[in-house]
Amino acid sequence: MYTNPLHTKISYLKGVGPARADLLRKELGLSTLGDLMNFFPNRYIDRTQFYKIKDLQDTQAEVQLVGQITGLHTVGQKRGSRLVATFSDDTGSMELVWFRGVKWIKENLKLQTPYVIFGKVSHFKNTFSMPHPEMESVAAYKKSLQSALQPVYPSTEVLGKRGVSNRVIQKIVQQLFIDFKGKFKETLSNEIMQEHNLISKNEALFQVHFPESQEKLAKARYRLKLEELFYIQLQLVRKNLVRKKKIKGNIFENVGDFFNTFYKDHLPFSLTKAQKKVLKEIRKDVGSHAQMNRLLQGDVGSGKTIVALLSALIALDNGYQVAIMAPTEILANQHFNAIVELLGDMPANVSLLTGSVKTKARRVIHENLENGQLHILIGTHALIEDKVRFKNLGLVVIDEQHRFGVAQRAKMWKKNTLPPHILVMTATPIPRTLAMSVYGDLDISIIDELPPGRKEIKTALRYDTQRLSVFQFMKEEIAKGRQVYVVYPLIEESDAFDYKDLMDGYESISREFPRPNYQVSILHGRMKPADKDYEMQQFVEGKTQILVATTVIEVGVNVPNASVMIIESAEKFGLSQLHQLRGRVGRGADQSFCILMASHKLSDNAKTRLKTMVETSDGFVIAEVDLKLRGPGNLMGTQQSGVLNLKIADIIKDSSILKIARYTAQDILRKDPNLSLPKNKNILQTFVEIDRRTGVWANIS
Ligand code: ADP
Ligand code: MG
Repeated sequence: MYTNPLHTKISYLKGVGPARADLLRKELGLSTLGDLMNFFPNRYIDRTQFYKIKDLQDTQAEVQLVGQITGLHTVGQKRGSRLVATFSDDTGSMELVWFRGVKWIKENLKLQTPYVIFGKVSHFKNTFSMPHPEMESVAAYKKSLQSALQPVYPSTEVLGKRGVSNRVIQKIVQQLFIDFKGKFKETLSNEIMQEHNLISKNEALFQVHFPESQEKLAKARYRLKLEELFYIQLQLVRKNLVRKKKIKGNIFENVGDFFNTFYKDHLPFSLTKAQKKVLKEIRKDVGSHAQMNRLLQGDVGSGKTIVALLSALIALDNGYQVAIMAPTEILANQHFNAIVELLGDMPANVSLLTGSVKTKARRVIHENLENGQLHILIGTHALIEDKVRFKNLGLVVIDEQHRFGVAQRAKMWKKNTLPPHILVMTATPIPRTLAMSVYGDLDISIIDELPPGRKEIKTALRYDTQRLSVFQFMKEEIAKGRQVYVVYPLIEESDAFDYKDLMDGYESISREFPRPNYQVSILHGRMKPADKDYEMQQFVEGKTQILVATTVIEVGVNVPNASVMIIESAEKFGLSQLHQLRGRVGRGADQSFCILMASHKLSDNAKTRLKTMVETSDGFVIAEVDLKLRGPGNLMGTQQSGVLNLKIADIIKDSSILKIARYTAQDILRKDPNLSLPKNKNILQTFVEIDRRTGVWANIS
């Protein structure tokens, strides 16, 4: 049987004994030759350049010098001691310093011998010094496999301490190439290589580890990035195709009375182009044999609710029931009210099921669900309890999925029936490129347009010292009949400090805005649901002018008359949260405002966040910035997608390569779904190999 030599343990490599192999495995996760081959430098240093000591600058940069050691002495005592060498060239002297491994250095270092040294210089008391330099005699330097650009490999502190320097790693990789050069298997097809003008795998691997020039390195990196992203996309696209083939769905063939009557007589506005486009995509899905699994992204206020309702009506037209789930009671209530109002006198039965629904009413809902009299059930987590069984569930709409577990696991539908179609709606836009790789196995619809007539929300940054003028502004807006949100950060429900801030803020606002001229509501997570609803209702009905709240109002709350959003300690919020909060205003015809209150001391990161908020209201732009600031690790779904374990590509910086990778993967699978054509032989082999490692294949077949 063919055994892949790349599965060979690295301890077989010359220069890597069992101890070092163990260290490399523990510290860098390198156990096989294949791991080593794919262990890419994270940067390169141009070592064609030599510095003179007199030209050194206090920049902490890594530099290379040639010179000799002219003196060696130990400074300090016992554990605090260090070895200091005087290193000189024809322009001056500097110090080399060792805190560890002193004995070995002392024994091996030769005085008056030319060395090439390399490392980070620091400046201290008018002298430059370089701690733990990498060094090599000029003679050895000339002999070793050198390229103009020196790779710098990822490393760890432990490796440094145990003497496995970058130079040592380079030598190990060098050994791999002495054994294997030119023998690495090609992993892409000729077709792809020609189409995208890619260099071969062998050439790319060599150039990425031992670049001969900037140009060759760039080509090598491009080829390896495209390959890496291509195989991730191939997995995702393939998974999606398999799912569509395997998971049958209920076919909604008809568009009937529910939909048509509503569209003709009840729809209070005309749909935007984007809404129509998305609705078409959904209709196509539910009209096919496969189960729909669609993610609907649309910025705050882009009108996702109506899309959900129209989709629900198609389900009703085909005799199916619909579940709509929201992350909070407030939101579920709001959806319920909005949908009941939109439906008007239409003969659709809609109920609300949340934690606060009493047992008796609950029982009625359960009954009507099972006998099919109830058409649409709107609610919170309560919907996925075991007791909730639909007679004929055809569609599940999940609003704001980032707050939600997976509904697919729920037992809402009967065992022997087909699973319902699933529509997940989110107002937290994920940059398109990331969505492609994270949710590559879902279908994605985007509403990229707001309903007409929306005014841009004016956003400003104000400091605590300007609070009085902010109060003044609030008074002016309230005098015009508007309402105001004041939101406090609540990082954790249990954080007493945050509550204190909130209560202090509530008190000072109550003092500044006294009754009977002003009414102030308060809303936070520690309140009983009934109290929350009451306070919220007071605000919704315009009986209070100011709502002091925590982020419980973040998602979805809709009070068109509220036109001012004040966010306290805005620097404590993440970008997407700020964007969500701002989206609570700007829902009516009036000019809306968002005021970000911050302290003067701001981190760079916080400055960027607040500046972004002031400069743009485009959710996708905000999402891109957010992703850059936080990295993809914090985005939902990234853990499973493999985008975090990329070896060479960067999900953010390489988004254009990602697009190419995706189209290429789609194109190949469209023409050759099983990768059985001879020309795709390399791809099939590599794909199977990757799957064996990552187990994705096992999951889908
Ligand atoms: P979101 O996408 O944030 O859930 P909503 O569905 O709550 O947004 O819609 C926000 C507001 O915009 C609602 O008051 C809704 O009635 C209104 N709306 C939605 N679509 C349109 C449209 N095509 N034209 C005018 N107003 C619309
Ligand atoms: Mg919504």
